[in-house]
Amino acid sequence: MSKGAIPSFPEIRQAVARLCADFPGSYWQALDRERAYPAEFVRALTEGGYLAVLIPEAYGGSGLGLSAASAILEEIHRSGSNGGACHAQMYTMGVILRHGSPEQKQAYLPKIASGELRLQAFGVTEPGAGTDTTRITTFARRDGDDYVVSGQKLWISRAEHSDLMVLLCRTTSRDEAKKPSDGMTVLLVDMQQAVGNGLTVRPVRTMINHATTELFFEDLRVPVANRIGAEGEGFRYILDGMNAERILIAAECIGDAKFFIERASAYAKAREVFGRPIGANQGVQFPIARAYAQMTAASLLVDHAASLFEAGEPCGTEANMCKMLASEASWFAADMCLQTHGGFGFAEEYDIERKFREARLYQVAPISTNLILSHIATHVLDLPKSF
Ligand SMILES: Cc1cc2nc3c(=O)[nH]c(=O)nc-3n(C[C@H](O)[C@H](O)[C@H](O)COP(=O)(O)OP(=O)(O)OC[C@H]3O[C@@H](n4cnc5c(N)ncnc54)[C@H](O)[C@@H]3O)c2cc1C
Repeated sequence: MSKGAIPSFPEIRQAVARLCADFPGSYWQALDRERAYPAEFVRALTEGGYLAVLIPEAYGGSGLGLSAASAILEEIHRSGSNGGACHAQMYTMGVILRHGSPEQKQAYLPKIASGELRLQAFGVTEPGAGTDTTRITTFARRDGDDYVVSGQKLWISRAEHSDLMVLLCRTTSRDEAKKPSDGMTVLLVDMQQAVGNGLTVRPVRTMINHATTELFFEDLRVPVANRIGAEGEGFRYILDGMNAERILIAAECIGDAKFFIERASAYAKAREVFGRPIGANQGVQFPIARAYAQMTAASLLVDHAASLFEAGEPCGTEANMCKMLASEASWFAADMCLQTHGGFGFAEEYDIERKFREARLYQVAPISTNLILSHIATHVLDLPKSF
């Protein structure tokens, strides 16, 4: 019954764990120091077909569902690795799959499945817009067979390691649109062609190794043929993909929580202070047990949200709730694990401090906890809206 006891997709999990064993803590520590991209790790995942599991078989992927993708990302994080360098290659293509033309699907999906094309940059957030996406101002003006794009994006991860970027921009200003969420359009930007020809990419150094960037658009020409779906409907297309993203990131958080719980349990059994293992003290073992209970509960909700998504059922609330609970479970486990390790928790070679820093992100991105609470309060409980 309990998915915590009998994990789904055991063969996939074992294979991913074997792959990750070739990328030990020392590999991630060296990259973290330099803020360098884990190119070899991403190549191994690509060659193993793991980043193409959500692409239908007709386009060269494995045609599996979100549960299988969740199992892959959970195992990556459980092993001490980090899927942030490439997880978007799994799901960003969803906007083409669901809303692209037959020609666009044929042109891009097989190459994304093989890894020949990397579509793992997703350009939504702007410095002046924050969580309120309807306030974006990056504008695509129509000029013949092109759009001409001007504006700025912030926190666009993997832009330097992506051949294509899904870009959300305005084609009608917020003031002129019927509704604030109307008038936004999705364009597929060819990054190699764009950089230096109207697009400037500036890396942003952060407390984690996440390859995130700031983008400046100055009259970048994007062919109208690269528009996904109808002009002005982009916000709706982007929302579709956000549920998948939240569920998959929740799965990564579950993997992180398992990493911390396993490391803390092992250390608490081995480390002797006052002549006995520290784990014999309930002050040490209870937080580990609590972290396990919290992770197990969140994991069940991740499974539930993934099943709803796979069944094509509405799952916005479940995707949000599982991301919130999983990110809180992983953060509690991170703090517990650091405390269990005492001073050694701060030593780079133990990987705890790195994973601790990495685990903190998910209460902020891709959506912050307050905004999820607001969704539950107003959409589920019908409480008055605050904005
Ligand atoms: C490392 C990293 C990678 C990222 N990668 C990408 C990416 O690839 N593509 C992309 O488009 N974006 C990306 N983001 C952006 C990310 O999605 C946003 O940071 C996140 O959605 C929060 O938006 P914000 O930073 O603008 O916070 P803000 O919207 O400015 O909010 C700041 C704080 O105020 C709170 N708050 C705001 N309004 C309210 C309210 N009405 N009620 C209560 N609380 C409120 C929020 O919860 C938050 O805690 C990334 C961010 C980071 C840090």
